[in-house]
Amino acid sequence: MADTKYIFVTGGVVSSLGKGIIAASLGKLLQARGYKVTIQKFDPYINIDPGTLNPYEHGECYVTVDGHEADLDLGHYERFLNVQTTRANNITTGRIYQSVINKERKGDYLGKTVQVVPHITDEIKRNVKLLGSKYKFDFVITEIGGTVGDIESLPFIESVRQLKWELGRNCLCVHLTYVPYIAAAKEYKTKPTQHSVKQLQESGIQPDILVLRTEHELSNTILSKVALFCNVSQDAVIQSIDVPTIYEVPLVLQRQKMDEVVLRKVGLEVGPTPEMKAWRQFLQRKADATEVVKIGLVGKYVELQDAYKSIDESLLQAAIYNDRKLDLHLFHSEKLNNENAEELLKDMDGIVIAPGFGQRGIEGKFAAIKYAREHDVPCLGICLGMQCMVIEFARDVLGLKDANSTEMEPNTPHKVIDLMEEQKNVTNMGGSMRLGAYDCVLEKGSKAWEAYGKEHIQERHRHRFEFNSEYRHLFESAGMKCVGENPESNLVEVVEIPALKWFVGVQFHPEYNSTVVNPNPLFVSFVKAAIENKK
Ligand code: GLN
Repeated sequence: MADTKYIFVTGGVVSSLGKGIIAASLGKLLQARGYKVTIQKFDPYINIDPGTLNPYEHGECYVTVDGHEADLDLGHYERFLNVQTTRANNITTGRIYQSVINKERKGDYLGKTVQVVPHITDEIKRNVKLLGSKYKFDFVITEIGGTVGDIESLPFIESVRQLKWELGRNCLCVHLTYVPYIAAAKEYKTKPTQHSVKQLQESGIQPDILVLRTEHELSNTILSKVALFCNVSQDAVIQSIDVPTIYEVPLVLQRQKMDEVVLRKVGLEVGPTPEMKAWRQFLQRKADATEVVKIGLVGKYVELQDAYKSIDESLLQAAIYNDRKLDLHLFHSEKLNNENAEELLKDMDGIVIAPGFGQRGIEGKFAAIKYAREHDVPCLGICLGMQCMVIEFARDVLGLKDANSTEMEPNTPHKVIDLMEEQKNVTNMGGSMRLGAYDCVLEKGSKAWEAYGKEHIQERHRHRFEFNSEYRHLFESAGMKCVGENPESNLVEVVEIPALKWFVGVQFHPEYNSTVVNPNPLFVSFVKAAIENKK
């Protein structure tokens, strides 16, 4: 294909409408037609990346293979497209400004006054086009974070305006809005959509396609009214009705021929409608699953919808590939202790111990691990979850009562989890963890090796602390084995208790590498063990 086509996804009326899902779904439909597609997210905040934001501010922090701490929408992009993203797929205002200011300090602007227009907007446009030119994508879909009219997103919106002008037919704007139902009047209201489109038009952007989020089916009368008031042809007014799973959204859009509208508008041949076989099979398996697998997730952010997004999705995918309905139970780690753990967790077929940082809620994780270990319930510990498995084992099995991670207690006499050597001189907190994909060699015959079906794997990391290898012999002689290691640094990446049915702790985050058509083997194996445990 000759020129890269650029599609922007903007949002209006309210936030949280699911621009990321719409972008990912449209990307999926174009990819299914054989195009090379990537999706990027521009976030209008000043942080360089979301790595320093806590889950209350921002939900999960996703990690790319090249070690970028990214917005959680990149997780959706990867899960839908089954294509890895990189740091080029997530840009913030902070990064744009940092790069412009660095250029200014170098003298690159040759005495000019550095301004939002054109210098900031040029830098934004450079980052939009980078993916198209450098990686030769046919379609680059760019999601603009926030809602139209926000002060913060103005430079991004202005860049979209300029690009639409420069690129002509090779550039489209998809605008996502909300059509509320007013129960008292028994009516759907399109006024917020009209206002939001007006706001976009005031910024010089005429949207090409509108996606209306709605709880129930909208009539043709409403759709044509929106088309009329917003200067959009009626076939380009798409409705996105609430569906039971986000994975149905591509099919909802396909039924309304949204991909065909896109192709026509950018001047590409439409061709036959792709079958989306693998995708439909996945949904069919989901629909057909009647038996339930009960999984308990133990963490301190369980009340936040998005804090463990990738873990939730990985478990859902793993359940579907095991032909089970996922029944996920959330346990706040601050509310668990040795007295109530058995009572609360007794119905769980399997337990996941979540990643995290800091002391809060740690004791509850130990209690859940102790329960799982003593009752032989399949248990998967991820990152801090794995570290907690190690500490609990040290305290309860090895009898090292004060064993701890130096993250929690720097003066512990038994540093079974300790700061990594390379971390000891780190002073800046941003982007300085051990991040991204690293090799791991698995021991033949271990549960992890069985799960992956091979010795050499790569998984993504985000941590500063590690298993202290000085204790390795002690742990192994008491029954907790180190079965996964980084071949260069010898860091312990996987521990397990072979005497138990399925008790595995991983220093990496398998949840960042699980997609609809390619579920993560470790989650699939864990859920399988949970199902067998139930029998
Ligand atoms: N806090 C731990 C560390 O930094 C674990 C991090 C995590 O769970 N992502 O090593």
